[in-house]
Amino acid sequence: MRETSWWGIALLSGRVTVPAMKISTAEVIATGTELLQGRTLNRHGYVLGDLLIAHGVVLERETVLPDDPHRIEGCIREAMQRVDVVFVTGGLGPTDDDRTLGAAAAALGRGVVHDPKADAHLERFFKKIGRVPTKAQRGQACIVDGADVWINPVGLAPGQRIEHKDGVVILLPGPPRELRGVVEQDVVPWLRCCTQDEAGTVMRHFRILGLSESLIQERVVEALTPSPSLDLSYCARLGSVECRVTGPESDVLPAAICLEELFADDLLNATGESTAVTLAGLLTEKGLTVATAESCTAGGIAEALTDVPGSSAFLLGGIVAYADAMKVQHLGVAAGTLERCGAVSADVAAEMAEGARQAMQADLGVSITGIAGPGGGTEEKPVGLFYIAVAGDAGTETFRYMAGGNRAQVRGLGVQRALEQLWRRVKR
Ligand code: ATP
Repeated sequence: MRETSWWGIALLSGRVTVPAMKISTAEVIATGTELLQGRTLNRHGYVLGDLLIAHGVVLERETVLPDDPHRIEGCIREAMQRVDVVFVTGGLGPTDDDRTLGAAAAALGRGVVHDPKADAHLERFFKKIGRVPTKAQRGQACIVDGADVWINPVGLAPGQRIEHKDGVVILLPGPPRELRGVVEQDVVPWLRCCTQDEAGTVMRHFRILGLSESLIQERVVEALTPSPSLDLSYCARLGSVECRVTGPESDVLPAAICLEELFADDLLNATGESTAVTLAGLLTEKGLTVATAESCTAGGIAEALTDVPGSSAFLLGGIVAYADAMKVQHLGVAAGTLERCGAVSADVAAEMAEGARQAMQADLGVSITGIAGPGGGTEEKPVGLFYIAVAGDAGTETFRYMAGGNRAQVRGLGVQRALEQLWRRVKR
């Protein structure tokens, strides 16, 4: 998901004042043997790539390496020749397999030194949890000689920025929340200083719901006056499409106005935020409460809503009702409806949403019932079929969808469509 412009806060905070150098190309070297053994999904290029493109920096290559210091050193050396900034992630921890620090120091021809600022952070951390750091843990206060240290706001190993004659090497901690912490706090403001150009290049992310990528492109091309300095790109996400408009402010602003008009009904936001985040903001703003009733997603809608901080302001609760008897008992679905229409039907979805709304005295009820597969499908009701319902003062609406893909994709799309329909109701 990282699907939101979560670094926006850092962009506005203006913490960095040192414009270092102009950068336009980057590489990511993700280290960790587990990344090559199918044990951990490498997410760093995904996170950093999105951030870099938002600042007009091209991520030219991403390399995944095992915890082998010689290969890490060699790869850093080569990347330093090719691009302005090399991000090296992982391997900064206290265990024997954490080899990045030494490898980076060797590639840069520098030593490793103890850093008082990182040490003070470590000291504070262990004091707070009432423990004494081991020798190996203390080692996380070591840095490449001459590095600018970025204290880790959610962990111990700091981020490090090392300038060399042709560019910069940046070391970042491996755990994704630590990486995000350092990136949000320090990398983004630094990057902003290095990538601001005189032309005032800006990027806007438009998130559009319910339309296909190709249909969106068709409409955009028809409506926008072409400009060589305006760059348009499209990215299909689960349940939404992101359209990015990049160029000089003087071109992006009229294009943004045009897109806002063009997709008035389906435009979720112009920030790139997820549906859950935008919906949460709208529910909070309007002071509305929600109750969920889920069959095939088993709490996925409630989970997506509660991923957003402050969700207790609008989510009253959720009922997971798989068995017919549970739909009757806890959601008040009529046994006759189940018998007549089957559990996967518009009528049952409607009664589930109404039942949840009533049970929790919520302003809105949202429900889903469907066939996620791989088994359970019939000719009449194939795998991938699901119904969503939204119930409120203005009545109950139901929506029928057919999803392709496997079980996870059907369930994932089910969650996204439910959030979308709730958003459409709330924004009216
Ligand atoms: P630690 O102090 O935890 O050792 P570190 O900076 O040394 O931190 P690693 O040891 O390389 O980082 O990784 C710690 C954990 O972070 C790994 O177990 C893995 O789960 C996760 N991780 C590391 N790199 C990535 C990555 N590229 N994508 C996703 N997760 C990662």
